[in-house]
Amino acid sequence: MNDTGDKSGQADQLPNKEHEEFGPYQTGLNTLYVSEQDVKDALLQYVSRKHFYRTAPAKHMKVRNLTPLNTYRYRLETFTERRETHWASELYGGGFVDSCAVAPPPAPWEIVVDPPPLFTDCEMHIPVPHTYSAENCPDCKGRGSTVCPSCKGAGKKTCSACNGNGTTWQEDVNICSYCGGSGKVRCFKCHGNGWLKCYRCNGSGTLLFHTELTITWKNNKLEHVVDKNAGFAVYRLQEVAGKEIFTDEHSSVYPIVNFPEPSINEGSRVCIEQHKMQFASECHILRQKQTVEVVPVSKVEYEWKGTHHSFYVFGNEKKVYAKDYPGKCCCSVM
Ligand SMILES: [Zn+2]
Ligand SMILES: [Zn+2]
Ligand SMILES: [Zn+2]
Repeated sequence: MNDTGDKSGQADQLPNKEHEEFGPYQTGLNTLYVSEQDVKDALLQYVSRKHFYRTAPAKHMKVRNLTPLNTYRYRLETFTERRETHWASELYGGGFVDSCAVAPPPAPWEIVVDPPPLFTDCEMHIPVPHTYSAENCPDCKGRGSTVCPSCKGAGKKTCSACNGNGTTWQEDVNICSYCGGSGKVRCFKCHGNGWLKCYRCNGSGTLLFHTELTITWKNNKLEHVVDKNAGFAVYRLQEVAGKEIFTDEHSSVYPIVNFPEPSINEGSRVCIEQHKMQFASECHILRQKQTVEVVPVSKVEYEWKGTHHSFYVFGNEKKVYAKDYPGKCCCSVM
């Protein structure tokens, strides 16, 4: 029988964790996180970085309305560890070999290592103890040398001066002075040996093999942003930071069930399910963290020279999206 502890499927439907009270966080959606001066500064900075944008409208516009269109973002972070092994070889100059005769080699997950800080990507390569063995070099099959590819082992090549005939034609038939009439010359590459020192084992014929363990720690992220149809695509919010209002970190997290915005509960369920399917079989999940943020979005309606326009300021960084900015020049090089 399997144990019926935290990791069984049953526990997923029966969260044993007291969930936070989300009530007060709802107000975060209607908070205006920017002032009139903030949005003016943000727009001016935005247009001054763009070629072919005049700054006059940003400098002299009249702000008519500031509307908060903040939204929620859910993020799941799953910190995984993966262990893979492969054969590695190195030069062997004789001496002690830490083979399986010394002690049984540990299985990949039995090897104890210091993990990096949580939620940090990292890779480590470790030679597995007691997996060493000295064996014939596979490239030269233990001979220490390989057949010269230039002469294919013959040590000689066809003379290029006489094309292998041994004679040349100059007014009369002459013996080829280059090959002395044999039609063959010594191979330059192997100096006539027909063999070359094996590059891989440096001529020793033996290599020291061992199992190399590669451990990869990775912080895998999934996000779900609530689309409030604020007037621009929510993918733009990927670039910006928000204000964290909820965080939950455990060896494995349960879906959020009582957030006031149902789409966050659903996003949490889907993301957790997806990561479980993605990682359960081939990795160990070391830690999970889920956060909910309010991402500030403000719609700014303004007037310039009697015409009405709008733009958006979003994220803690106060990024700007201004599609109908009236100061765009039409003289761009297209
Ligand atoms: Zn050769
Ligand atoms: Zn010749
Ligand atoms: Zn070799």
